[in-house]
Amino acid sequence: MRHREAVGWWGNVIGVSSDLLRERLHGVGEEIARASERSGRRTEEVKLLVASKYYDADQMKALKEAGVKLVGENRAEELSEKQARFGADFEWHFIGHLQRRKVKDVISHVENIQSVDSIRLVKEIAKRAENPAKVLLQVNVSGEEAKYGVAEAEVEELLEAAAGTGGKVDVAGFMTIAPAVERASDVRYVFARLREVRERLRQSWSPHFDLSELSMGMSSDYAVAVEEGSTIVRIGRVLIEEGEPAVRRRT
Ligand SMILES: *Cc1c(COP(=O)(O)O)cnc(C)c1O
Repeated sequence: MRHREAVGWWGNVIGVSSDLLRERLHGVGEEIARASERSGRRTEEVKLLVASKYYDADQMKALKEAGVKLVGENRAEELSEKQARFGADFEWHFIGHLQRRKVKDVISHVENIQSVDSIRLVKEIAKRAENPAKVLLQVNVSGEEAKYGVAEAEVEELLEAAAGTGGKVDVAGFMTIAPAVERASDVRYVFARLREVRERLRQSWSPHFDLSELSMGMSSDYAVAVEEGSTIVRIGRVLIEEGEPAVRRRT
């Protein structure tokens, strides 16, 4: 698996330096500030989440020392392992594909499940939640096969299912993963589209849900995502790539 290998060379070859992480996080922060400015937004509207799948439990310490506050984990098992040691040090979101049978293991341990993509999952979360569970609906905007997430046309069914849980499932907004492309500007339409979906549904669903969050943008495309209204960027590779981070793609 790709994630495993990344952890392997990261851990073994260059080690985990919180100084390097801090420096790169600063760079990402500046890029977010510039993108916010270009689009007339306030930088504070954008939260930076670090994808923790690239770090094993030992390496989480470097993230903590680098000042990271918000992390997103992809796997239930790793979440437990990492939280056993660093649970109180971060705000935890779940960003990976979530199987229904794993819901009980993550539900009370994360602030937000960003990857809700079926009615069955909504119902399972409602069944297991002791308190209202904050979630994002994952939308497959581009229609790429092999990507999780619901089609735009199915989003309202999920909102209806969530509204039917008696307040157990609180939809805070939407998440998407853009296709991998050469130039970030080629996926601008994905982010713009998700923002439009949010605008369209926000009015009619405001009695039930706030829908203000847009989790979009990763290492290769976060600047464009911020220009299009992202409120949470999920950053992984750009923090750990060997050498100087590649010059970020022109938008
Ligand atoms: C790994 C991952 C990210 C981070 O991606 P990078 O390209 O490494 O920045 C963001 N979101 C999800 C859901 C991921 O699995």
